[in-house]
Amino acid sequence: MRAIRFTRSGGPDVLDVVDVDAPTAGPGAVLVDVEHAGVNFIDTYHRSGLYPVPLPSGVGLEGVGTIVAVGEGVTGREVGQRVAWADTLGSYAEQVAVAADRCYPVPDTIDGPTACALALQGMTAHYLAFSTFPLGKEHTALVYAAAGGVGRILVQLAAQRGARVIACTSTDAKEAAVRALGADEVVRYRDVDIAATVRELTGGVGVDVVYDSVGAATWEASLDSLRPRGLAVFYGNASGPVPAFDTQELARRGSLFTTRPRLGDYVLTGEELAWRAGALHGLAASGNLDVTVHATYPLADAERAHRDLESGTTAGKLLLEV
Ligand code: NDP
Repeated sequence: MRAIRFTRSGGPDVLDVVDVDAPTAGPGAVLVDVEHAGVNFIDTYHRSGLYPVPLPSGVGLEGVGTIVAVGEGVTGREVGQRVAWADTLGSYAEQVAVAADRCYPVPDTIDGPTACALALQGMTAHYLAFSTFPLGKEHTALVYAAAGGVGRILVQLAAQRGARVIACTSTDAKEAAVRALGADEVVRYRDVDIAATVRELTGGVGVDVVYDSVGAATWEASLDSLRPRGLAVFYGNASGPVPAFDTQELARRGSLFTTRPRLGDYVLTGEELAWRAGALHGLAASGNLDVTVHATYPLADAERAHRDLESGTTAGKLLLEV
């Protein structure tokens, strides 16, 4: 089968298309014919070495496809079932062996691209809005990269929960998109003093929670945008990781809280995974969640997909058609 592999860390050019033996469905696993694999920033971090993986390595964590074999001891999953997953390294491939309890069924009402967008990015937006900081109508949230893969789903979930959403993004087209998704205010954050603008928009108070996926370029502005005892959620590194900082910075700015969450810790049980997937599928099937695919590439063009994602110009989900 064809798969994408890399033998050394580096830029997108280290990704190779190779012919390898197909995996088998070992105990507790299912073998899936992959329909679409999702392209995510974490894949670029595995490739670049920011998040090291043993080499040589496959790439990609997310996908959707149909089960073609079931391993020993698997219950509740069967051949012919469509499933999605978000944490199986090596998903840029024609076939993937996925732990049966880490994939979940995709109803017929959800097409492949939507299912893929809802797996890693959708689940992330869900845990951020429902669990890391359960948003309500009394809250104001600042959302970075709001037209991005996670961002656009987070804006919608936050608005549906009644929160006031201040969305940060960078171009006219992205601004129009996030307004249409329910953002109350838009900050063109690359061009302005973010914290001063947020204070203006909140009557000098600051926001209750910041969802910051940009990291290095914005973390200080994020802390400066919070009300006393507000929460800074540093969940991504699009511009580079947040550097180590003195916790006195939290005291000085108003006894702030901060967290650095990971999706894996918010889908710890099968029940939690099923809850988030079911909620997202339900919203999408009823037309209450806009899922935008930015681009779909052939599997062999994974290198181009990585370049595009890292350019910061995309808006929505990037997929590989397998
Ligand atoms: P996006 O679709 O949001 O793409 C990144 C966006 O970040 C760009 O479109 C751009 O939006 C903005 N950006 C700002 N500075 C840069 C830069 N220097 N280079 C590139 N982009 C930049 O990606 P995702 O939604 O897939 O992921 C966003 C971040 O969240 C990633 O770091 C990812 O690893 C992380 N993440 C974390 C998870 C977790 O559980 N902790 C799970 C999922 C994702 P704009 O034009 O608006 O500035």
